[in-house]
Amino acid sequence: MIRQPVITIVGHVDHGKTSLLDKIRGSAVTATEAGKITQAIGASIIPASSLQKICGHLLEKLKLKLTIPGLLFIDTPGHAAFINLRKRGGALADIAVLVVDINEGFKPQTLESIEILKSDKTPFIVAVNKLDLISGWQTDTTVPLVKNIEQQHERIRQIFEMKLYELVGKFYELGLQADRFDRVSDFTKQLALVPVSAFTGEGIPELLMMLTGLAQRYLEQQLLIVQGAAKGTILEIKEEKGFGTTVDAIIYDGVLRVNDTLVIGGLEKPIVTKVRALLEPEPLTEMRVKKAKFRNVREVSAATGVKIAAPGLDGAVPGMPMRSCEARDAATVSVDIQKEVEAVLVHTDDEGVIIKADALGSLEALIVLLREKGIPIKTASVGKVSKKDVAEVDVAAQKNPFYGVLLGFNVELLPDAVTLIAEKKTKVIIHEVIYHIIEQYEKWKEEKKKAMEIAQLDLLVRGGKFRLLAGYVFRQNNPAVAGVEIIMGRIKSGEPIMTAQGKKLGVLGAIQEDKESVPFAERGAQPAVSMADVTIGRQVKEGDIVYIDVPEDHFRKMKELKHYLNKDDVELLKEIAEIKRKDNPVWGV
Ligand code: GDP
Repeated sequence: MIRQPVITIVGHVDHGKTSLLDKIRGSAVTATEAGKITQAIGASIIPASSLQKICGHLLEKLKLKLTIPGLLFIDTPGHAAFINLRKRGGALADIAVLVVDINEGFKPQTLESIEILKSDKTPFIVAVNKLDLISGWQTDTTVPLVKNIEQQHERIRQIFEMKLYELVGKFYELGLQADRFDRVSDFTKQLALVPVSAFTGEGIPELLMMLTGLAQRYLEQQLLIVQGAAKGTILEIKEEKGFGTTVDAIIYDGVLRVNDTLVIGGLEKPIVTKVRALLEPEPLTEMRVKKAKFRNVREVSAATGVKIAAPGLDGAVPGMPMRSCEARDAATVSVDIQKEVEAVLVHTDDEGVIIKADALGSLEALIVLLREKGIPIKTASVGKVSKKDVAEVDVAAQKNPFYGVLLGFNVELLPDAVTLIAEKKTKVIIHEVIYHIIEQYEKWKEEKKKAMEIAQLDLLVRGGKFRLLAGYVFRQNNPAVAGVEIIMGRIKSGEPIMTAQGKKLGVLGAIQEDKESVPFAERGAQPAVSMADVTIGRQVKEGDIVYIDVPEDHFRKMKELKHYLNKDDVELLKEIAEIKRKDNPVWGV
C-alpha cells in the first residue's frame, strides 16, 4: 500500500501560491466525477483518476502508469504551514513546489524557503508563475505547454527564455543546477522549472505530471504505509462550536480511530488524551446549503488531514508531533514524543542569543538558519515574548553584549514585556521572514562592535604633536607655561609628553584656550599649555616640537583599530613609533 505524497507550496508572498493551489483544485474538480472529490481538513487530495484526466496525454507520452493513489496538497500555502509541518528529522512534505513570479524573480522568502528545503533535503520543483503576464504572451490551453511555448512569437519566446535563464542563473549562484523541466536529464541532480500561470492554467498539467513522476520514481519507499498507529503533525488549533478546542492535523502514516489514545508533544509535558471525534468537511454539495460544517468519521488513514476533537487540547501548539497508541503504551510513547520536542527546544550553547517563535516548526526553522550562520543560541522557546524572556536577554547582554538580543519569529510581545523592554532598552528583533531577522541581527552586531571600538579608541592616548611658539613663553618652569600650535593629532591634559628625540618630559598639565581651561585641543588650535616637569630653555626651547608619548599598549590597540583612524593619525603614529624605536627597535611591533 502506498499513500499520496504530501506536497506543500512555498515561496515569496504574492508570487501566487494560493492562486496556484486554487487552480489545481479547480482543475481537479472539473476532472472528477461528482462526489468523488475527497475532502480533508487542511489538505486537498487530488485522486489518481483526476490526475489521469488532467495529464493523460503527458503520462501516455512518458509511458508513466499511475501507482500512487493521488496527490495531497497542504491547503494553507505559505510560510507558517510550510515550516510547521515537520516530522522527526525533517519536513513532513514529501515534495515541495516553490513558486517564483517570473517577473519578480528571487525575493527574501524565496531564498529562505530554498534554505529550509535544502537543509531538510526536501525535493522540490519550481513553478515559474504568472507566465500570462509576459507582455504579448498568447494563451493557449488546448496544447501542451512545450508546444505552446514553441508557437509564441519569436520575440516573446526570447523574452520568456531570457527570464527563465535569469532564474537558472540565480539557482546556480546558490549551488543548484536548474533547467526547464523538459530539458532536465537527471532529476536527482537538476531542479525542474515548470512555467505556469495560475490564472490561465497553462502548465498545470505539466506541474502535476512532474510531481507524480518524481514521487513514483524516487519516493516509493517513503510512501509505503505502515499499517498501525497513526503518526501526524499538528497544523492548527481551533475552537469549534460544540467540540471545544480541536486540532487540525496531517496524518502521514498509519490509521487513526475514534477512542484511540493520542499523545501530542507539549512545551512542558506531552498531552495524553483520547480521540472523541474525527471530523472531515461535509462534501461540497452539502456545504452549499450551509448545514453542518463537518461530518463524523470512525477512522482515517494516511495520508490525510483531519480535525480531532478530544479533551485537554487547550495547551496544544502548532507544529507538535502526534501519535496514537494503545492506552497501556501511553507512557512510553510520551517519552519518545517529548524527546522529539526537546531535541528542538534544548540548547547547550553557553552563550548565545535568546530566540522565540510562535510554533515548534517555525522555531526549528529559525534554529536551522541561525546555526547555518554560526550564531549560537542560549535558549529557544515557543510562545509570546514575556517579561522573563526580556530579563534573560538582559543577563545575556551583561555576559556578552553581542548576544544581548531577543530574536523573535512571528511572535507577539506581552504587555509586561513591552514595559521592561522600554525600561531596559533591550534589543529585540521580530520579523516574519527569518532572513530579515538574521540580516538585522548581523547589522546590529556590526554597529555595536563599531560603537564599542570607537568608545575604546576614545579612551586611548591617541598621539599629538605641537610646537612651542616663539615669543610665547609665559613662564619658564614650575610649571612651564607656553603658547603652542597643535600640528597633528590631539593633545589631552594628563597625557605623557616627550621631545622629538624621545626624552621624557613628564605629563601635560592644563590646556587653556582664550583663558578657559579645555580638556583637549586638536590640530590647528593654538592654546597655552602648562608642563610641570619642563624648564623651557633646558630640555626644550622655543620653536621645538613636543610629542605625546603614546604608551606601547595603546599604540598596539590603535594598530588593531587602524580602520577608524584617518591618514594624518596614522602618519603621526608612524612618526612616534620611529622615535620610540631608536631606543627599542621592537617597540609596538
Ligand atoms: P500568495 O501570497 O503567494 O498566495 O499569492 P496569491 O495567490 O495571493 O497571488 C498574489 C497576486 O498575484 C494576486 O493578486 C493574484 O491574483 C495574482 N496572481 C497569482 N498568480 C497569477 C498568475 O498566474 N497570473 C496573473 N496574472 N496573476 C496572478
